[in-house]
Amino acid sequence: MTVNLLDFDLDALAGYCEGLGEKRFRAVQLFRWIHQKGESDFARMSDLAQSLRAKLAGAAELRALPLASEHRSADGSIKWLFDVGGGNAIETVYIPEAERGTLCVSSQVGCAVGCRFCSTGHQGFSRNLSTGEIVAQLWFAEHRLRVGGSQRVIDNVVMMGMGEPLQNYAAVVPALRVMLDDHGYGLSRRRVTVSTSGMVALIDRLREDCPVALAVSLHAPDDALRDRLVPLNRKDGIEALLAACVRYLARAPRDFVTFEYCMLEGVNDSDDQARALVRLVGGRVPCKFNLIPFNPFPASGLRRSSRERVLAFAAVLQQAGIVTTIRRTRGDDIDAACGQLAGEVQDRTRVHLRLPRAAPGATHPAGLA
Ligand code: SAH
Ligand code: SF4
Repeated sequence: MTVNLLDFDLDALAGYCEGLGEKRFRAVQLFRWIHQKGESDFARMSDLAQSLRAKLAGAAELRALPLASEHRSADGSIKWLFDVGGGNAIETVYIPEAERGTLCVSSQVGCAVGCRFCSTGHQGFSRNLSTGEIVAQLWFAEHRLRVGGSQRVIDNVVMMGMGEPLQNYAAVVPALRVMLDDHGYGLSRRRVTVSTSGMVALIDRLREDCPVALAVSLHAPDDALRDRLVPLNRKDGIEALLAACVRYLARAPRDFVTFEYCMLEGVNDSDDQARALVRLVGGRVPCKFNLIPFNPFPASGLRRSSRERVLAFAAVLQQAGIVTTIRRTRGDDIDAACGQLAGEVQDRTRVHLRLPRAAPGATHPAGLA
């Protein structure tokens, strides 16, 4: 089996090159060809020593992900579906904005956390992506979209695609390093965001290993409700999660944590619940709230909060001095909005036996009414 060079951060690539009898600066050259120029053919890496090119030929490759489909939204978002073998596919979404380009990257095929309101969660879990498969999403998108010149297209990466990034920690951290490396994509730590459903011990590890911007999917002001929406809350609970957020901030590139909050009609969107959130985090966790109007998918049986409800909820937080934004829905005409990413997942966790499903025509959120 040939080695996939996308699996390596710069130190790992230097180690690999050293094994071939090559100095570190050769690894830097190779890394730059791959990530900065998007070159996959060793023969075209013109300033790379012939001897190294000869050693790489046949032994190593740059294994891109086979593209299964591309959908372009009316708002300019692009969703790519990549075949990752075994009947599985993952999704990556590009979201252009006036000032920047954001790429939403997947970390797993499916997700084992099983949040009630998430399409990926409903599909179950097949496997972790490798570092190379995570990096390949950025490599593909950046070099497909860059036309001529060398102007960078993607300057913001959010680990908010399919999967729970911290459940695939060992592969995600080297991928983050490739994104941050000045010889790689050179992204600012503030513009690479790990979004997690809240794995306390791993938030602590990330703080030590590779602190980037942190988003935490909170979704509820109390354990009783969060236990039902985000099942892994039963392990540590909200108090321990908030304490980990405060510890994280000591090393983070930003001085706040972003709390994501998916707005579900009649479930977590009342003024009382907004006030409870203020009591929970106020004066304790420097934070911003990002309210995400729920993006429906057929099996959820849940409904999106009305625009008025979302605005009223936001107003309670804002009046308490908490910066609160409402996420604009992008790409929903191509099922690329938050929580709609489904790919193809050969579920190995039999999640459909665990998650309640909506009866056809149900008027109450299944299991939450
Ligand atoms: N697993 C990570 C990252 C991927 S999900 C996490 O849970 O944070 C990215 C964001 O989309 C999370 O905040 C998640 O709660 C939110 N989300 C999931 N399903 C959604 C849906 N149907 N509508 C709106 N947001 C959703
Ligand atoms: Fe997994 Fe995040 Fe979806 Fe929850 S919201 S099931 S953690 S991808």
